[in-house]
Amino acid sequence: MSVQGEHFVDLLRLGKSYGDTRALTDLTLHIKRGEFLTLLGPSGSGKSTTLMMLAGFEQPSEGRIERNGVDITHLPADQRDFGVVFQGYALFPHMTVAQNIAYPLKVRKVPTAQITEKVGQMLERVGLEGKGNRGIKQLSGGQQQRVALARALVFEPSLLLLDEPLSALDRRLRQEMQVELAHMHKEFGTTFVFVTHDQEEALALSDRVAVFNNGLLEQLGTPQEVYERPASRFVANFLGDMNMLGVQNIRRQEENLVCDYKGQPLIVSNGVSAATVDDGKSWLAIRPEHIDLLPLSQTGGGNGVVARMEKLTYLGTHVNIDMRLADAQPVALRIPVSHPMLNNIERGQDYWCSWSRQHGSLITS
Ligand code: ADP
Repeated sequence: MSVQGEHFVDLLRLGKSYGDTRALTDLTLHIKRGEFLTLLGPSGSGKSTTLMMLAGFEQPSEGRIERNGVDITHLPADQRDFGVVFQGYALFPHMTVAQNIAYPLKVRKVPTAQITEKVGQMLERVGLEGKGNRGIKQLSGGQQQRVALARALVFEPSLLLLDEPLSALDRRLRQEMQVELAHMHKEFGTTFVFVTHDQEEALALSDRVAVFNNGLLEQLGTPQEVYERPASRFVANFLGDMNMLGVQNIRRQEENLVCDYKGQPLIVSNGVSAATVDDGKSWLAIRPEHIDLLPLSQTGGGNGVVARMEKLTYLGTHVNIDMRLADAQPVALRIPVSHPMLNNIERGQDYWCSWSRQHGSLITS
């Protein structure tokens, strides 16, 4: 069993061009053994290019890939001992479950007795014992995913690459599959590198998330880090709804930072250090669920802005409230349906929208 946390695959200053198209620029990424690492970004941001270079299906234009410190940049795909799972799983429909799982071992010319034993063990580990002789179409979506993972893991790869495996599924099935995938990662302890454009999926599954934009790695961190402390406006917006206030005059005050929004000081204890802040444009980013709604009589004390209520949207577990500041800047709130203010909130009225200093992030790029 491998130890999580140890570096074992390193992407070093990796770049890729397809003719005039720049797909990836200067990517350095250290993949830790045993982690669930997700490459997240919009379409065309360079995620698949990265995965394909890791797999050995594409050659980098610049940089190199190392495994345990050994250069494998030009090692053929079939000598890398990395498993790959593609979108929709690409199972062989004319083969049984057992034949599908056996396939990578057959290709590797493993003796038949050993194949039978390994396939049997694999069926058990993925909870499909007794189903080896079934056809693929006789299985549920969840069971098919388990076969796909079993087939990719049967030769004990050191790394499993998953290229948007869930993207073709509907929302409910997708959520079920996410639970299964997390379970399989835990069960096998193999390092997973997973590509998705779905931020919820990335946050739900990953130990770390690498956020890509336009061929560049914008941020690498735990789900909480990239969501709560986005390093750029792109990351802030890509990971969910975000309020952005253009702020100025950032300065240090004891262990906090203070910035001005239209002359009003706001305190931040979460974000870039004052030393790195220049006089250019900066933003204070606050998630809608971190802003509380209070009557104007409670103005003062902590961070907050006065805003006029414009629209309320009921969404079952919570309500979204669209507000607007005096300067026309929109502010979005997401509050639980049990919030006491919901009984007497009125459109066109002013309220105090407040947040704690831990829940604002300063962004300078
Ligand atoms: P993602 O996986 O994030 O959607 P890709 O890595 O597939 O993004 O693509 C990154 C960029 O490289 C895009 O502009 C895409 O059009 C381009 N690209 C990817 N593969 C090829 C290819 N085989 N030939 C030419 N351009 C490509």
